[in-house]
Parts: sequence; C-alpha cells; structure tokens
Amino acid sequence: MPPEAIPVNSLSRHIEPLKDALAAAATEVVGSGYFVLGPNVRSFESAFANYCGVEHCISVANGTDALELSLRSLGISTGDRVAVVANAAMYGTSAALACGAEPVFIDVLAETATMDPAKLEAAFGLGVIKAVIVTHLYGQLAAIKSIAALCRSHGAGLIEDCAQAHGARNSGGLAGSFGDIASFSFYPTKNLGALGDGGAVVTRREDLAERVRMLRQYGWTQKYTNGLAGGRNSRLDEIQASMLLLMLPHLDQWNERRREVALRYSSGIKNPKIRVNQSSGASYVAHLYVLRSEARSALQQHLASLGIQTDIHYPIPDHRQPCHGGRYADLELPVTELDCTEVITLPCFPELTDVEVDRVIEACNSF
Ligand SMILES: *Cc1c(COP(=O)(O)O)cnc(C)c1O
Repeated sequence: MPPEAIPVNSLSRHIEPLKDALAAAATEVVGSGYFVLGPNVRSFESAFANYCGVEHCISVANGTDALELSLRSLGISTGDRVAVVANAAMYGTSAALACGAEPVFIDVLAETATMDPAKLEAAFGLGVIKAVIVTHLYGQLAAIKSIAALCRSHGAGLIEDCAQAHGARNSGGLAGSFGDIASFSFYPTKNLGALGDGGAVVTRREDLAERVRMLRQYGWTQKYTNGLAGGRNSRLDEIQASMLLLMLPHLDQWNERRREVALRYSSGIKNPKIRVNQSSGASYVAHLYVLRSEARSALQQHLASLGIQTDIHYPIPDHRQPCHGGRYADLELPVTELDCTEVITLPCFPELTDVEVDRVIEACNSF
C-alpha cells in the first residue's frame, strides 16, 4: 500500500482543535443581531493593532483591497508610479493598476526573493516614485530598514504587504510596523486565516487610518455623504472577526512550529541538485517553505510519486502576465525570472508531524 499523501497544506487539520470553539463563536454571532462592523470587528481590530505594535487597525474584505485602499489612502491615483516586486502573483501590481497607477517593477535579492534595495535605489534615480509596496514574501521580512530609509529620503510612501508575514519580526518591530501603512490578508491558508475572506490595514498614522476607514465604507465622510473619492464596500463581517479573535492568541505558537518544520527541512535536505531555503529566526514565519532546483519538474514528479504534494509560488512573474498584452516585453528582471523557473514549495503547516517532515526530507534526498 502506498504511504498516505502529504498535502502542501491542510486546513482541516489546522482547524480541528478549535472546531468547537469556532462553532460556538459563530453561533453567538448568529444570535447577536450584529453582523457587519459590530463588537467582534472592533475587538479584533484593537487586538490586532496591539499585536502588531501600532495604533490603528482597520479591517477590510480581503488582502487585495487592503493593498489598494492603502495606496488610495496615500493619495495614489492615475499616472502615479508605484514600485512593486514581480514575484508574488500580481497582488501589488493589481492594486497599483486598480488605482490607475503605473507599476515600476523592481528585481529581488537572490537570497530572500524580496525587493532588492539597490535596484530600488536605481529606480528612484530614473523618475519620481510616489509609493513603494514591499512584500515580505514566504513569511520572510524584506530588507525593510534599507527600504524604509530610501523611501524617507525620496519622499515616497511605504506600504508593507504582510499577507504572508503575520508575526514576523526583527529588533525594530513586527511586520506592519515599519512603513507608513501595511496590508494583511486573512485568507484561510495564511498564517492567520479566517474561515472565509478577510483582510486588514494597520498603521501608526491617524490620517491614513481615518482615510481607510472612509474608503472601506463607500468613501463616506459621514453617513450618505461621499466625501472621499475611490471608496467602495470592503468590510470584515462579525463571524470572520470572531473566528480571527479566537485564533490570534495561537498565532505565535503556530509560527514557531512552522519555523521548526522549515529548519528541519533546511538542515535535513542534502542534495546537490537542490538549494534549500536560507531563512531562519524570528524574521521568518515560514508561510511557505520554498526550495530551488534547476530540475524542478523532475523533482516535483519524483516527490509526487512518493505521495508528497508540492506547489509553485509563483510560476509567472507579474511583468510577463498575459493581461498586460506585451507592454513590458522589453523589461528584464533576471533574478525574478530565473526564480520563477526554479522555485518549488514543500508541505509546511503547523500540524505537519515530524514523521511527515522526515518523509519529505528523505524523498528530497533520494532525488
Ligand atoms: C494572499 C496574498 C494577497 C492577497 O490577499 P487576498 O486576501 O487573497 O486578496 C496579497 N499579497 C500577498 C503577498 C499574498 O500572499
């Protein structure tokens, strides 16, 4: 009999220990009569701002809205140039395009796959960049200190995309506390995930917080007065907020286990055809554990034959996506483009057992 398959992620295993508590919280909301922007939303916003170490959290409908409303709160509109990376499934790029802005693609560092500060500095020299979206990819904090310093000296707004980095930290603070404003997603597979869609913006700046609060509710400056352009309906509901409130106290311990799994992979996988992930420590919350191999598809097939599921994050860089119609055909981002052909994601979630992790390691070593 073939061994049981090991999934890339398992939400049923993740949710199982909390199932009764989550169901009870949902039942309470059902009986409460408050379903949108009520007491659970307020409690969660306050708890999450506190967790991130910033003054304000404004919940929204999803992580993509969080990015777009962050850009809009900084005044980004038609024709503005916004620096983004191109290796994270179009999230930042889509948000910039939705504002009518022009994405300026910045290549990444080979070691961490996060924005290369030297490339950003070069881009600042070529024209005005009004905002920068830095993505803490795979759960790894980007070179945030250098990037924040560059943004300050060039007067650009800094947005941190923290959708993969809830709880990642360095000596200066947590993901989301370094820039002007930060976006989070609570999509179910994220390190902190709801049982449906959800997102949030966090910021220390009262002016930006106030604007996002208006933008998520039609742009109302007061009820039925649409004082702010670019608004929409983007709200977190009470049931999801109650789920997130219950899960937030577990986040650090889940991240700790993710990191343990990642470290086990990094020290156990020894194969000249595979390069292991280099991230470790508190600045990495192991949202995804990513290997590189020039023989990626053969490796993927080998692992599949041993019952090990893998995924590719991400196969097509933003500037090569068909939606642009060849607009960026002449643009080259060598590190990003090579990475897209080599990255492969291993199973990594808090409930993965050591036995499973060892099976994945052996399978990689027998490739
Ligand atoms: C998931 C994700 C998003 C988008 O979040 P949604 O809630 O799915 O809209 C944005 N950025 C990154 C880096 C993500 O991983």
